[in-house]
Amino acid sequence: MTPTRVVFLLSIVLLLIPSFSSADIVTDPVDMPNVRITEPWLRQLYQAGLAGSPTFRSLVERLEDSDVVVYLQTDPRALLGVAGRLTFLSMVAGTRYVVIRLSPLRSPAQQLAMIGHELQHAVEVAERPDIVDQESMLREYMRFGYLNGASASGVALDTKAATEVAWQITDELRDQPLVVAAPLLP
Ligand SMILES: [Zn+2]
Repeated sequence: MTPTRVVFLLSIVLLLIPSFSSADIVTDPVDMPNVRITEPWLRQLYQAGLAGSPTFRSLVERLEDSDVVVYLQTDPRALLGVAGRLTFLSMVAGTRYVVIRLSPLRSPAQQLAMIGHELQHAVEVAERPDIVDQESMLREYMRFGYLNGASASGVALDTKAATEVAWQITDELRDQPLVVAAPLLP
């Protein structure tokens, strides 16, 4: 088994209590993109994904047409063996907010595949208006996803679609040089 395969097998949606509260979100300016990134390296990587991967681009287009806002950020408290995770934050004035936390991986291409994997989960949320909080997200994922593990910190769920998206993006980026100063696994 290759290292890449191990990483993707461990990629999961982990349902945890959000580490910041919905009080942080006051208003939602209409001219802001639905995928929001503040870290410069992550923004650069994201742009490379948009430029190089049609699958990545179509996920973002679907999110931009949705009521789901995604905060994409590096995970300062990365869990061992977890490459990325999506958490439902809150629903405010008809907009649903989720956060994707990304752990350092071995290459920019792997990180983009993982971002795409998690963006697919955000699309899954967008397609299901019944998801309005952590509890309803858990309920829905138990129905259309599958259990991928459980621990003291939460329940890990995943979908086949997200795994396939990661492989598609990996394929699309295979022959493209990605010059991004990304934090990588040591
Ligand atoms: Zn997943």
